[in-house]
Parts: sequence; structure tokens; C-alpha cells
Amino acid sequence: MKAVVFEKFGEAPTIQTVPDPKPAADGVVIKVEATGLCRSDWHGWMGHDDGITLPHVPGHELAGVVVAAGKQVSRWKAGDRVTVPFAVGCGRCFECTSGNHQVCEHQTQPGFTGWGSFAEYVGIEHADTNLVRLPEEMEYATAASLGCRFVTSFRAIVDQGRVTPGEWVAVHGCGGVGLSAIMIASAMGANVIAIDLTDEKLEFARKIGAVATINASTTPNVVKAVKQITNGGAHMSMDALGHPTTSFNSISNLRRRGRHVQVGLMLGEHARPQVPMDKVIAFELEILGSHGMQAYRYSAMMEMIRTGKLKPELLVGKRISLEEAPAALMAMGGFEGIGIGVVTKF
Ligand SMILES: [Zn+2]
Ligand SMILES: [Zn+2]
Repeated sequence: MKAVVFEKFGEAPTIQTVPDPKPAADGVVIKVEATGLCRSDWHGWMGHDDGITLPHVPGHELAGVVVAAGKQVSRWKAGDRVTVPFAVGCGRCFECTSGNHQVCEHQTQPGFTGWGSFAEYVGIEHADTNLVRLPEEMEYATAASLGCRFVTSFRAIVDQGRVTPGEWVAVHGCGGVGLSAIMIASAMGANVIAIDLTDEKLEFARKIGAVATINASTTPNVVKAVKQITNGGAHMSMDALGHPTTSFNSISNLRRRGRHVQVGLMLGEHARPQVPMDKVIAFELEILGSHGMQAYRYSAMMEMIRTGKLKPELLVGKRISLEEAPAALMAMGGFEGIGIGVVTKF
């Protein structure tokens, strides 16, 4: 099969012909029909993720069709249209059996712990636990765009952030994660403030539900601006970018007993940012992480998509071919364009 391969961290990946994957006894092989481009792939390529062994095929936001299933797989067969969470749970450890596959102790991640979906085919283990059936009407590009950013935002807003109608939600950063969070929080009935450095993204944020926007490049004090708009601070706030400044602002702009959810990855030199711990105590703030979403939780999100309350298709940005993927991957370290780029030609 054709795949995007890198042999060294930080060196240009190339298109190579490599052996097709074979299904594990409890796994499947999926013919990839669409795969999203994500900043996490860029981090992996840069060598920020110590789970990767070289040579490596990136890609973890995938949708496609099952072409082969192992002997132990009972719920899936060739021809099924599926997607999969980026954190693939073992189904047997304490976290999995208590329903928290997203933090499985033995999790595998396509495109990180093993070869991913920047390829014609990808192997996924523990298929019965992790595969998610796609609604008939959902196209592959949309399904791939759910992959990590949309589902992580769904969990961040709904399950971790526990957003309720009427609350103020601040979203720092309007890339794929941020825009997803804005759409989801707004569908939940919250009042959303979008914060970014570009007017173009803020304008788009308004179109998908933000009721207020702050351009951080022209606003001297973002925290003060959020407090003014919200009359005292956000109830829930999210760092969707993953940067010491946005993380600090997101915690600092909360009102008493507010919830901060960290979704943007903090890796390398950013891994240990400053936290206003004085505020955390005095205001009884909560600091939460959000790491993907369990396969079984997709159904609530899929029903909101099916009924038109969520429209992830609006967040699909550029569609490119596998040949264009290496250059697009290397460019992910810079600022992204609007929406989620997806490889749709293999
Ligand atoms: Zn991702
Ligand atoms: Zn597990």
C-alpha cells in the first residue's frame, strides 16, 4: 500500500510503498477513505511524542470501510463504514471496565504507538470495543474530522466541563478544537466568547455560535475583557490552543468555582506552564483535562449531528491528496487556516 512515512524526526516525510497491514485476532483492517490533519501529527513528526518508533506512518483521525476482521471480532465485518477514537482502549483494564477507555492504561493510538492512517489501509486492535458505526448520510471527510478535535471538544464541553444552558464559556484559540467547542457549547445553550489572534477566525466563530469575540492581538488584557463581557468571569473556559499564555488566561478569566479544561496539547518546552494556583484555591477553581472520547459516548454526539444541532461538516477545511499530505503535515506547526484539513484522495 501507499503511505506517508518519516524515517527521522523533523525530516521531510515521503510517500512510500509498504506492506499492507493484517488484522490482529481481535482487530480489523480499515481502508482509509478520509484522514484529518492535526497538530498532534506535527508534534509526533517533530519528536515531541516518546511513544513513536521509526520509521513511522502518522495519522489518527480516520474514517473508512472495514476490509478484514480477525477471528475474535464479533460486531464488525467487511463493508462496515466506521471511525474510531484516537485513544484505542484495551477493553479490559480498570479504566476501560469503568467506562473510561479514553485514558486506558494500555491504550494504543494509530499514528503514535503504531502506524496510522496517512495510508491506504490501517490496522485497529480491539475492534469490538472501539469501532464506531457511521450514520448512512455522513460522508467520510466529516467523519474523519470528528476524529480527535470534535470528539475531544464534545467530551471537554459536555462531560468534563459540564456546561449548562445560560453559562458563559470562553474558548481560547479558534483552530479545529476551538471551533468545535464553540459549536458544541453553543448547541448546549451556553453563551460563548471566542478568543483568537485573527479577525477571520473570529468572524467564522460568530457564524457557528459565538456571541462575543476578543482579538487577543489587539486587546491588551484578555482576562479583563472576558470578565467585562461575562460580568465577573466565565463559568467554564477552555485552552483549545495549548500554549502557556492561553492556558494561564483561561484559568485566570474564570469566575468563582469556574472550570478550566485543557485540551490544547502542552508538549516540549510548554509542558509545565505557570498556573495561578492562588486563584485556584481562593476561587475553588477546577482544572480538568480532556483526552478524546470513548467509542460508546459517540452516540449522543452522532444523534445531535443527525438532527442538525451540530454541523461538523462546516468545520471541514481543505481537502487534499495523500501526495500533498507531507507538505501539509510539516506546515501544521504554523498557524492553521480555517477548519480541519482532510486527506480524501489516496
Ligand atoms: Zn488530532
Ligand atoms: Zn484499557
